[in-house]
Amino acid sequence: MRIVLKIGTSTLAHETGRLNIRRVEELCKVMSDLKNAGHEIILVSSGAIGMGVGKLSLHKKPEDIPTKQAAAAVGQCELMYTYDKLFSEYNHTVAQILITGEDIENTERRTNFENTMRRLLELSVIPILNENDSIATEQIVIGDNDTLGAIVATTLQADLLIILSDINGLYTADPHKDKNAVLLHRVEEINPEIEAMIGGVGSKLGTGGMITKIKAAKMTTAKGIDLVIANGDNPSNVYDIVEGKDVGTRFIAKKVD
Ligand code: GLU
Repeated sequence: MRIVLKIGTSTLAHETGRLNIRRVEELCKVMSDLKNAGHEIILVSSGAIGMGVGKLSLHKKPEDIPTKQAAAAVGQCELMYTYDKLFSEYNHTVAQILITGEDIENTERRTNFENTMRRLLELSVIPILNENDSIATEQIVIGDNDTLGAIVATTLQADLLIILSDINGLYTADPHKDKNAVLLHRVEEINPEIEAMIGGVGSKLGTGGMITKIKAAKMTTAKGIDLVIANGDNPSNVYDIVEGKDVGTRFIAKKVD
């Protein structure tokens, strides 16, 4: 299977912005193992701004754009250093690709991106993508990595997109407010009833929330790709998701010819 795994900031970093070492080590181990088992792995990793916040001791996510972009530049290095080191322990090679909205909208650049990605996969590399936060401006920004994950999965005709976050999946109501809220394991169709279950909350350091995840699910399922939203706090869940077990919420792909 060709698997795109999107990891949110809340999964990678503590609230301080510092790396969640145990979590990231376990995730890299699971991804390495899945790769050894014959799967292709593409990682979409957030955390550049979050880790920059930690490394620059900024105490909270900056609000002004230059500081955000500076934090991303610092944090992205830290992120790639960490992935390179951990995947190397399992003899896997990683590559960094940073893109913006323009790279997707411009046909030539999109083709270039696609060709590079395909070549990296042929070379058995694990591509690690993020938005190029240090140069992206409002006009050209993709904006969030759930959407980036869906763009990558659809462009490369992946078999599965997994989004790991600090939530278990989609609930019938807000589980923090309603104790009768039930986790939905399978969503066959994103209809108005499902849309009504979406809350707008995100974490302190991350960007998305359920809205961007559902948007990503609409994009992938329309192209015949399942999307699973699951909690990143237990990395071995990823094995179960790949085996098709009920973990988190699975948005079932539409049949495409
Ligand atoms: N690109 C941002 C970062 O790495 C995160 C965007 C997102 O989480 O959606 O900090």
